Amino acid sequence: MMQQKTDLYDAVIIGGGPAGLSAAIYLGRAKYRVIVLEKERFGGQITITSDIVNYPGVQHASGSALTENMRLQAQSFGAEFAIANVSDVDMDSDVKHVTTTDGTVYQTLGVVLALGANPRHLGFLGEPKFKGRGVAYCATCDGEFFTGKEVLVVGGGFAAVQESIFLTRYVKKVTMLVITENFTCARGVYEQLKNYPQIEVRFETELIEAGGDKTVEYAKIRDNRTGMVSEYRAQDGGNIGIFVFVGYAPATDMVKDKIVLNEQGYVVTDQNQRTNIAGVYAAGDVCIKNLRQVVTAVSDGAIAATSLEQYIAQTRERLNLGASKQTAQETQAAVEGGANAQGIAESSDSAAKDGFLTKEMRGQLVEVFEKFPNTVVIRAVVGQDTVSAELESFVNELVGIHEKVKTEIDDKTLQTGDAKPYVDICNEQGSIGIRYYSVPGGHEFNSFVVALYGASGAGKNSVGENTRQRIRGLQHKHLLQVMATLSCTNCPEVVMATQKLAAISDTIEAEMYDLSKFPELKEKYNIMAVPCLVIDEGKEVLFGKKGVEEIAGILENM
Ligand SMILES: Cc1cc2nc3c(=O)[nH]c(=O)nc-3n(C[C@H](O)[C@H](O)[C@H](O)COP(=O)(O)OP(=O)(O)OC[C@H]3O[C@@H](n4cnc5c(N)ncnc54)[C@H](O)[C@@H]3O)c2cc1C
Repeated sequence: MMQQKTDLYDAVIIGGGPAGLSAAIYLGRAKYRVIVLEKERFGGQITITSDIVNYPGVQHASGSALTENMRLQAQSFGAEFAIANVSDVDMDSDVKHVTTTDGTVYQTLGVVLALGANPRHLGFLGEPKFKGRGVAYCATCDGEFFTGKEVLVVGGGFAAVQESIFLTRYVKKVTMLVITENFTCARGVYEQLKNYPQIEVRFETELIEAGGDKTVEYAKIRDNRTGMVSEYRAQDGGNIGIFVFVGYAPATDMVKDKIVLNEQGYVVTDQNQRTNIAGVYAAGDVCIKNLRQVVTAVSDGAIAATSLEQYIAQTRERLNLGASKQTAQETQAAVEGGANAQGIAESSDSAAKDGFLTKEMRGQLVEVFEKFPNTVVIRAVVGQDTVSAELESFVNELVGIHEKVKTEIDDKTLQTGDAKPYVDICNEQGSIGIRYYSVPGGHEFNSFVVALYGASGAGKNSVGENTRQRIRGLQHKHLLQVMATLSCTNCPEVVMATQKLAAISDTIEAEMYDLSKFPELKEKYNIMAVPCLVIDEGKEVLFGKKGVEEIAGILENM
């Protein structure tokens, strides 16, 4: 069922990475009514990077901190935000229609396509089989799983060099396989490799196969100078990791039959970021360009926005719509509390040394809790072990922050030595089937605050009516366990998606585990990448980011 929004936006920005956020800052500041639709996580690709040192004016920042500042800046100028996966854009008339997968239709005069790009798969034998079990695409997320191991890094560009260096924090040895006869990034980037004796580089080599039983035990590598194929195995005989960084494919599938793209699928624009369709602009990595970086993405976003401003003003005049009525105050009220929650999570990067919550985080929590329509109870079900002690002290830190959030310590329920302690999120009627089996620190604090927000009865519109009906129609009971790490930036999305399912359906339960505390689960499900979604205790074990609808689809087919 379609849910057409009656209000008319001046601009809908599709994609909440640096390009989209920069366009939102400019359009919001110019007092246009603008919304950013992001399907996964505001901040885009760069949120997986812990170290950015080349963004002018910022000597050092994590990708998530840098982009969260951009988002807050856009929000302060009145930009709106929604987590929504755009499935179609009808660009045929002055008023364009942007449809999301949950059936919501946004009406707008202008569109900015800031869709970014996704990691390319390489296509070697064994790649699909070992994805998540030895083959990875994100060093920040999965590097830790290869602590003390040997890994191969495929690629010779900026990301491959940067990620190889990052991997040396964990692994014993990195062998870079570069298909060309030299690196394809700037000299200043690859010259850093000299400082890392544990990184070996093999030029003109190609990975052709990964093999093994449950994990990658060997890789076949071809030397293109001689044509010789050799087998790579770890010196200690253990499993190896393969990290693939061979570029990105533009996320333009949705618009491929509607606007002009080049052969590789990148959007063709003029120097004002205009596409071939009036009122439709593109910015960032999705465009044809020589350098795909944050600095060029934000530049495109600013150019697209300022050019679009003129188009919107002219179109309003032509259609007799009058000036845009948007003010920062009007939109501020529309900003979802969930977005505030993400802000708090970012400041947990600088958590207090002598506890979990900083003074700043407590202040921000008060603002979020203030908006709760109903009371929420956080119940720690604990025993005598160290995880219990950690959970108990975490819950105790939340005592007294706001009357809408109550806490309980239950040290009677856990009977056997095997039972694991957990934190249960409840509303006034009792448990809502959302549990944390580890302290939700790091990036998981985000999902925790959003879960409380949902338990209070707020944020009901974050899942469209169509999807809600599908979830309510699920016949069987399901247990959704998300195996995460607290440094994983992709994990909260899956945790939040499972929690939304649990909040909608009485027969679904959602649990979050910090894998570093549960080596037995890592072993049991053979997990070498996060996020990992375990459905019904192993009936399905799935890796990678997943949203509410995708998980609902999986459950429908079980
Ligand atoms: C490992 C790594 C390290 C990097 N290091 C650096 C660095 O140190 N310095 C630097 O300057 N750059 C770095 N980059 C490059 C930088 O991340 C990109 O150039 C930049 O993020 C591009 O921004 P963007 O907004 O164009 O796209 P993205 O960041 O890709 O954002 C696009 C957004 O659009 C969303 N989206 C896509 N389709 C839809 C849809 N249908 N509906 C709703 N939302 C949608 C995506 O979820 C995504 O969040 C790095 C990249 C990687 C992968």
